[in-house]
Amino acid sequence: MASLLRAAATWGLFPWRGYCSRGTQGELSKGFVEALKAVVGSPHTSTAAADREQHGHDESMHRCQPPGVVVWPQNVEQVSRLAALCYSQGVPIIPFGTGTGLEGGVCAVQGGVCMNLTHMDRILKLNVEDFSVVVEPGVTRKTLNTYLRDSGLWFPVDPGADASLCGMAATAASGTNAVRYGTMRDNVLNLEVVLPGGRLLHTAGPGRHFRKSAAGYNLTGLFVGSEGTLGLITAATLRLHPAPEATVAATCAFPSVQAAMDTTVHILQAAVPLARIEFLDEVMMDACNRYGRLTCSVAPTLFLEFHGSERALAEQIERAEEISQHNGASHFFWAKEAEERSRLWAARHNAWYATLALRPGCKGYSTDVCVPISRLPEILVQTKEDLKASGLTGTIVGHVGDGNFHCILLADPEDAEELRRVKAFGEHLGRRALALHGTCTGEHGIGLGKRQLLQEEVGAVGIEIMRQLKAMLDPRGLMNPGKVL
Ligand SMILES: Cc1cc2nc3c(=O)[nH]c(=O)nc-3n(C[C@H](O)[C@H](O)[C@H](O)COP(=O)(O)OP(=O)(O)OC[C@H]3O[C@@H](n4cnc5c(N)ncnc54)[C@H](O)[C@@H]3O)c2cc1C
Repeated sequence: MASLLRAAATWGLFPWRGYCSRGTQGELSKGFVEALKAVVGSPHTSTAAADREQHGHDESMHRCQPPGVVVWPQNVEQVSRLAALCYSQGVPIIPFGTGTGLEGGVCAVQGGVCMNLTHMDRILKLNVEDFSVVVEPGVTRKTLNTYLRDSGLWFPVDPGADASLCGMAATAASGTNAVRYGTMRDNVLNLEVVLPGGRLLHTAGPGRHFRKSAAGYNLTGLFVGSEGTLGLITAATLRLHPAPEATVAATCAFPSVQAAMDTTVHILQAAVPLARIEFLDEVMMDACNRYGRLTCSVAPTLFLEFHGSERALAEQIERAEEISQHNGASHFFWAKEAEERSRLWAARHNAWYATLALRPGCKGYSTDVCVPISRLPEILVQTKEDLKASGLTGTIVGHVGDGNFHCILLADPEDAEELRRVKAFGEHLGRRALALHGTCTGEHGIGLGKRQLLQEEVGAVGIEIMRQLKAMLDPRGLMNPGKVL
């Protein structure tokens, strides 16, 4: 515990703040916990230290105090009653999906009630002909795709973790397929949201699942990426896509980071309709080889994937190979069989854990900048040099087709100086991206760690409007306090 508090201090998290339903410091009153139990039942309420601890952090380095209580609502009515109860008592509410976030979004900086929504895990409605599906918050992306297997449809947004789809909506997540299929911002059609006081909102109107709309303000867009600070998402209507007729994946190694980046930009400029184009630096490739028992070259590498008809694929592959070879690529490896492809992509999706395995016992911190595609070669080459000069252990991996990449940096949680250097590196990189007209976060969100960078990114007026929107929906500031703003 002492080390957690030291780390919290190092990361400059919020101090504790009391509120009326607390008994002693850090605890909720017995009467309040009984009132929660009356809504969800005793088996779905826990004040056990292990449950609170487990729900007090995500996969990031951010640490603070755990929530005072964890509840597992079973349906939307219960979520609504819980929200009304918390709001009337001035108790913070923290929505919890699968806890795979990377920006401390579920940390209970002011204690309060953590609402774990994973027991609400039904797929409510599949509209095959309309290419849409309605899911509850406990459904994860892999569960949905298993369910869709025989329908000829799939959901392409694929963060490395098997996250909940509503958590993904809350963080505006994306993944390796975004270059072709877009992010959660492009694939959420409607959301059912319990607002802080308990009211129910359907952001596009109840039951609607149209492909386009010009009807008033975009409320769906407001809640995608709101990181649990505006309400609890209790159902999401998602856009589905036809499963591709054929798929081919490839990896190829490059003599330098610059050559790999030039290839990325040239392939995109040539309008080759890639499904995925991912970059891994040589340190990342080495880590993936060890972790995933691969034998790829230890060099800056692109992972590519093409979707389409057999004929279209042949053309796409030829064009991509030509451009890559022109930039000095070697060691092409083509994977056509499903098993081979999933082995390759499993290695890519395990990048986070492969990096952690480089220094057992250390925690990971992932930067997440995204820049206009033309500035990608420059920022990646500079970042690689900075990383070498910093003496930090870190890998680089990126969804480079979107201009988005991550440095996964390792630090000993007991070493305050190393934590400080990791934080400084992340901030410096964030500012470099802003200077190139990019963003400090392409997909992980602001959470606890990037609030200052958000201010620099959107400016004083942008922040003021965001604060006004938040105050209008959550006047008591109880929805996931301390995040984003
Ligand atoms: C190995 C690994 C790889 C990853 N790769 C990617 C990647 O490629 N792309 C990417 O975008 N992310 C990636 N992530 C980060 C993470 O998976 C995403 O941020 C994901 O969207 C979080 O979903 P979750 O259900 O785990 O949310 P949680 O971590 O539980 O919560 C995240 C935030 O959303 C809020 N929230 C959760 N559920 C709800 C809800 N129902 N209603 C309202 N608010 C809610 C929480 O309060 C919190 O602020 C990765 C994480 C790991 C560990």
